Amino acid sequence: MNSINFNACPECDLLISIAHPKIGEKHHCPRCNLLLLRPRKRSIERTFALSIAGFILFFPANFLPLVSITLLGNANTGILMSGVIALLTKNMWPVAIVVFLASILFPLIQISLSLLISGHLYFNRPNRYLVNWMRWMHHLDEWVMLEVYMLSIIVACVKLMAISPLTFGWGLYAFIGLIIITTLLISNLDIPFFWQKIERLTQDINHAD
Ligand SMILES: [Zn+2]
Repeated sequence: MNSINFNACPECDLLISIAHPKIGEKHHCPRCNLLLLRPRKRSIERTFALSIAGFILFFPANFLPLVSITLLGNANTGILMSGVIALLTKNMWPVAIVVFLASILFPLIQISLSLLISGHLYFNRPNRYLVNWMRWMHHLDEWVMLEVYMLSIIVACVKLMAISPLTFGWGLYAFIGLIIITTLLISNLDIPFFWQKIERLTQDINHAD
C-alpha cells in the first residue's frame, strides 16, 4: 500500500507530506525541526504487552495499602481511594472528583482502551468501534495525571515521617509500576501506524457490509 500522510506540523502548522517512514527513521519538521514521526519496532506487540501489565497492576495499585502509619498505638493504612474519601469528608468534593477522575477512573479507561485497540490489531480483528476507541484514548491522554498524585503521596509521606515511622505497602510499589507502565505505553504508541492498521481493518468491515 503506497499510503502518503498529509500532516500539519503541530508546532508551526506547516503542511507536510511524507510516506510512512521505516522503523528507526526519524522525521522532523523542515521548518521548526519538531520530531514528527518515529516509528517503533513491534509497536502493536509492545503496546499489547504493556496494556496487559498495566491492567494487572491497576488492581493492586488501587486496592492494596500504599502506606501505613502507627500513631499512639493505632495503625492506619491508606489506599488510593482513601485520599478521595478524605477530601469528600472535608467537603472538598470538586477536588475529590478531579482526583478520582485523573488518578483512578481515566487511567483505568485509558489502559482498557489501549488493551482493546492493541488486542484487536494484534489478532487482526476488525471492529467498527476501533476508530472511536482510538480517538477517546488520544483525548484521555491529557487527563491522566498519575504522576501528580504520586507527587502528593511523596509530600504527605515526608511530612508524616517526621511524626511517626511509615511502612510502605505493596499498593505503593504497584502504583509506581503503573506509572512506569503508562509512561512506556504512551511513548511506545506509534499513532500513525495504529491509524493505518485501523483503516485497513475497518475497510474490511465496510466491504463485508
Ligand atoms: Zn513545524
